[in-house]
Amino acid sequence: MLKSNKVRHLMLGTMKSAKSAHLLMHGYQLDEQGKKVLTLKPETDLRDGAFVSSRALHTKRPAHIIPKYDDGSYVQSIIETERPEVILVDELQFFTDEQVEALAKASIRFDVAIQAYGLMISYTGEMFSPIKRAMECGFTIHHLSMPCAHCSQDATHHLLYLDGVLQTSGSPINVEDYADATQIYESVCYDCYTTAIQAAYA
Ligand SMILES: [Zn+2]
Repeated sequence: MLKSNKVRHLMLGTMKSAKSAHLLMHGYQLDEQGKKVLTLKPETDLRDGAFVSSRALHTKRPAHIIPKYDDGSYVQSIIETERPEVILVDELQFFTDEQVEALAKASIRFDVAIQAYGLMISYTGEMFSPIKRAMECGFTIHHLSMPCAHCSQDATHHLLYLDGVLQTSGSPINVEDYADATQIYESVCYDCYTTAIQAAYA
C-alpha cells in the first residue's frame, strides 16, 4: 500500500482550552522537521491580523486569511500554488461548509495532511455547521480537554454573557456583532450549561 500523507485531524476544544497554543507548538515541531507548512485562518476573526497567536505562549505564526465569501476556489488555489505537506487551520468553525469541503478535497488531490482546530458547540448549544461538515468529510476527531468552569467534568459547551446578561439564542458567530458589549465566555459541561440556560428562562 502506498504511503499517504492525507490524514485529516480535527482538534476540538472549548474557548481558552489552548487550541492556538497547541497549533503553534505543532507548527514549531513541523518547522523543526523541515516540513512545508501552510497556516490558514478565517477572515471572520481578524483580532490578531494575519497571524495565529497565543497569549499563553507569547508567540505567533503568520497565516493566510481565507476570505468570508470564498466558495472554496481560493482555498483550493492557495493549496495548489503553495503545495504544502501539512496545512494547519485555526478557528475552523468560522470557515464555510464549502471551504471545509475544498480543504478535504485538496487533501486528497494534493496528498496533504490537515490539522484543523475549532470549537464544536456554539453558545446556542448547537454544533457549528463547518465542524459537522468536517466530520462528514472524514476528519478524525480529537478533544483537547479542559475542566468545566463550575464543576470537575470536562467542558464541552459555552455560556455567553453580554454586559452580564446570559445569551440563550442569536447568531452562532458573534465576533463582530457585539463588538461594543462586554463579552464573557465560560467553558462549561453540558450539565452546567443546561442548568444555566433553564435558570435564564425561568
Ligand atoms: Zn459543569
